[in-house]
Order: sequence, then C-alpha cells, then structure tokens
Amino acid sequence: MRTIDLSGKSALVAGVANQRSLAWAIADALSDAGARLILTYQGERLHKNVAELAATRPGTQTFPCDVTNDDEIDALFRNVGEATGGALDILVHSIAFARREDLDGEFLNTSRDGWHTALDVSAYSLVALTKRATPLMQTDGGSILSLTFQASQRVFPNYNVMGSAKAALEHATRQLAYELGPMNIRVNTISAGPIATLSARGISGFTHMAKHHEKMSPLKRNIEPREVGDAALFLCSTMGSGITGTTLYVDSGYHIMGV
Ligand code: NAP
Repeated sequence: MRTIDLSGKSALVAGVANQRSLAWAIADALSDAGARLILTYQGERLHKNVAELAATRPGTQTFPCDVTNDDEIDALFRNVGEATGGALDILVHSIAFARREDLDGEFLNTSRDGWHTALDVSAYSLVALTKRATPLMQTDGGSILSLTFQASQRVFPNYNVMGSAKAALEHATRQLAYELGPMNIRVNTISAGPIATLSARGISGFTHMAKHHEKMSPLKRNIEPREVGDAALFLCSTMGSGITGTTLYVDSGYHIMGV
C-alpha cells in the first residue's frame, strides 16, 4: 500500500495569518502526514495568532519574518538551520500583498511604488526564500511550493497588479525549477480557486467572483482550503517526485472553461 509519510521531515511554512490562511491548510496537511512544522509570522501583530495555531501541533516552532527585509530573512534561515540540524525538506511560500488602492479601479493607474511593493512581497520573496533554503536542502533534495492565481494568465477585474505579481511568481517557479533540478530540489506552484481569506477579502468584487466560479466551474462549486492542503501534501511528498516547474490548478476546473 502506498501512503504519504513525512515522519522525520521538516517543513517551513511562510504565510499563516490565521486559521483561514491557505498556509495553515497546507501546514495542517503536512503535519498530519508527520512533518515537523516551522511557521513564520510577519511582526508582533500576528505572533499571537500563529503561536496559538502552532501550539496545536506539538514540536512546532515559530519565527518572525517580513519578506521585504533581507536581514529578517537571513535571521530566519539561521534559526531554521539550527532548528533542523541543517536539513530542511519543504518550503511553502504562501505570501502576497498589494496596496488596497492597487486592487481596485484601473490597472492603468498603478503607481511605480505600488507595482514595486506588490512584486517585491508577492514574487521576489519566493526567490529570496529559495536562495536561503537551498543550502539546507543539499543532502536529500527538497520541495518548494508557492500559491498563485489564474489572474497571472487571464484578466480578472480588480486583480490588477496582483495578476502581474502572479505572472512573475509562475515564471520564477519555472526558472528556479530549472536551476535547482540537478540538486533534486523541486519547485511548483498551486493555482487555487477563490477562498475567502483575509487577503482575498481585500480584493474588490471578491464575493461576486467566487459566485461566478461556483456557477461556471465543471465541479459547480468552490474549492475548500483542505483541497489545497491535500494537493500541497502530494506535491511535497515523494508522490510528486517527478513533478517540477508546474502550476497545478486546484480550482474545481474553472481554468479550462471558455464560456
Ligand atoms: P492570507 O491568510 O491573508 O495569507 C497571506 C499571507 O501573506 C499573510 O500571512 C500575510 O501576513 C502574508 N504577508 C503579506 N505581506 C508579507 C510580508 N511582507 N512578509 C511576510 N508575510 C507577508 O491569505 P491567503 O488567501 O491564504 O493567501 C496565501 C496565498 O494564496 C497568497 O499567495 C495568495 O495570493 C494565494 N491565493 C489565494 C487565493 C484565495 O482566493 N484566497 C487564491 C489563489 C491564490 P499579514 O497578514 O501580516 O500581511
């Protein structure tokens, strides 16, 4: 019988804000399969939430990391190196941010600063985290996973600059997969359908979009966070050992539709 067993593996999961976060659904699935978790939080504001969730999974450690700050990323990976004895197996990047004014109205009005912020936090951060994670994945290889959205490929009104950031993230996934493949480090991204999380609710018209997905997708429903967790578990385990550089759609099939 084939089962997924991540006992003895360690997973760094960045992007848990609260129980609804896709990062938590993924952490939950990895932990259920036996992985030891390390969670990051952005600043003291979120520390309490993340510490409470971590406490439900014995052995989980938490460290601060604002991905716009290289010193904090370096400090995080020093901590991760010590916590794991220098061997990390899984990195999950579940982070995105754009200014509210850039997630509404016309893309044409995106400011230079707004563009920079969205692409720095939501796309460059994958490169920055991966660069520090790879030295910890030298012995047994590893699996790196991020979260994207189909606005990278198609127009979703109000996604605006976040669509640009997701296109950059998906490109970075392929480029990193190519460069890290010889080290047996796999890099993939899950393109999730709409789920009402803290970030998602910041996008104008999100509720309307979720209803549209429900109506139009082949499965005639929206996805659940657990389904993102399950797909992540598959990709991060040996079950996904032949898969790298891929965007895996977990969206009730919405992405195949024309009209
Ligand atoms: P979420 O719970 O709000 O998670 C987003 C996370 O990004 C939060 O923990 C947030 O922390 C973190 N973050 C933002 N700026 C950061 C920074 N500078 N440094 C470190 N962390 C930072 O929302 P989510 O929906 O689960 O989002 C997770 C990922 O899934 C994102 O990449 C998102 O684009 C993607 N996704 C979501 C959906 C959806 O419909 N929900 C669909 C497809 C893809 P703070 O709260 O402190 O800002």
